[in-house]
Amino acid sequence: MNNRRAFLKEVFLWTGLFIAMVVFPLFVALAGHNEEYRGFWIEFGVGLGFIGIAMMGLQFVLTARFKNIAASIGTDALLNFHRQAGYVAYCFVLGHVVVLIAANTEFLSFFDPRVNAPRAMALVTVILLLTLLVALTIWRKELRITYERWRLSHAAFAFLILFIGLAHILMVGFYISELWQQLIWIFLVGFAMAMLVHIRIIKPYQMSKRPYRVTNTWKVSNNVWTLEVEPVGHEGIKFEPGQFAWLTIGPTPFSTQQHPFSFSSSTENTDRYRFSIKELGDFTSTIKTVERGTRVFLEGAYGAFTLNPSAAGVFFVVGGIGITPVISMLRTLRDRGDQRPLTLIYGNPDPESIAFKEELDQLEKELNLDIVHVLENPPEGWTGFEGFITEEILTAHMPENTGQTDYLVCGPEPMMDMAETALRGWGIPVYKIKSERFNIV
Ligand SMILES: Cc1cc2nc3c(=O)[nH]c(=O)nc-3n(C[C@H](O)[C@H](O)[C@H](O)COP(=O)(O)OP(=O)(O)OC[C@H]3O[C@@H](n4cnc5c(N)ncnc54)[C@H](O)[C@@H]3O)c2cc1C
Repeated sequence: MNNRRAFLKEVFLWTGLFIAMVVFPLFVALAGHNEEYRGFWIEFGVGLGFIGIAMMGLQFVLTARFKNIAASIGTDALLNFHRQAGYVAYCFVLGHVVVLIAANTEFLSFFDPRVNAPRAMALVTVILLLTLLVALTIWRKELRITYERWRLSHAAFAFLILFIGLAHILMVGFYISELWQQLIWIFLVGFAMAMLVHIRIIKPYQMSKRPYRVTNTWKVSNNVWTLEVEPVGHEGIKFEPGQFAWLTIGPTPFSTQQHPFSFSSSTENTDRYRFSIKELGDFTSTIKTVERGTRVFLEGAYGAFTLNPSAAGVFFVVGGIGITPVISMLRTLRDRGDQRPLTLIYGNPDPESIAFKEELDQLEKELNLDIVHVLENPPEGWTGFEGFITEEILTAHMPENTGQTDYLVCGPEPMMDMAETALRGWGIPVYKIKSERFNIV
């Protein structure tokens, strides 16, 4: 988004669309309703349930990796929204139960197996599953559950919850007694579930037809490795510098191990793609052992963390592995002969952790680029900045053409929060600051 108008248009478009889809079931319910009014609190409680289930259905759409949505909102922002919307939907569903029982205790009979055993079991199951789903999302790391197991259980629980939710709506049938209303609900829930099938089955199937092969791996700093791949029998994928792809290593794309990595190569080189990966956990620690010729699969490209062609200059604030999308941008700008003024504030723990150090020195000569290294533990004789990247360091390097410059931020969470606040403090509008958060869950 290059200007205020485009930014506001996108904000209104997506917010409006989301709200319209959330309240749509209420209109469907009211359109065919001939039943007697049962008092405010009961109708309110029922409304909470409809909104809760609609929000849950939309959760599937948010994670369906639609390129258009991801490209304008940003995948990290989208997944963070998915997480927050999930908590809100949970409150709506619990609110539905609590408000109805508080309004009329006869609703407690819904949980009584002597009245209707399958219904009582389904309702207890759905509430337990929902609570478990939310608890596992909040405390996954504390419970030492691997990301892959969490992701599998998350999808399975969500699928079951939505299915039981639909059955509940159809069985109660109070606001959807007409066939056309029931068909709309079946279609909406079916559509949401189809999103999961699309991500887990159709996309991997498509990827299996477009494999890649590892051509090389090498070390670029003490704990970062570059993995280079080439397409096998197809033309590869197009990406913009700063975007990322989901990477699967191994013979099949039907794997639970699918991780997002930014392209680190130039977009001008379409024969081979590079990803530079920091050793962090079980998957990333295996990159150094991946052999040449190993089959890999890419899904993408995704992401809104990209260069704006009309910006007069770019100011990068980067910490550690956040350099990967930025090195792709710098390499691309060099290959295109772009001489816009660029500033890179780059923080690292020590000199050994600086990825692409020699290449950055070279890029500083080839581009109109000013690099400011900041080291937490500098070596003896270091004359640069020491400690973390701070607001003072940013202000000391504020670009001349502040209003026409774009600001790109990628790195550890505290650095990103600090940089975003500092840039906003300079009066930089939010649409000129782009951030990519690697830690999405
Ligand atoms: C848009 C984006 C671009 C990224 N680009 C790079 C890059 O260029 N280089 C780089 O080194 N890292 C990048 N990352 C981070 C990288 O995806 C994680 O470090 C990696 O997935 C960790 O996997 P692991 O199993 O080794 O570590 P684990 O210890 O299992 O996971 C560490 C953390 O990484 C995240 N994570 C793990 N698996 C996944 C997954 N399948 N999908 C999403 N998140 C996951 C979770 O937050 C988890 O807590 C990027 C992340 C995002 C969201």
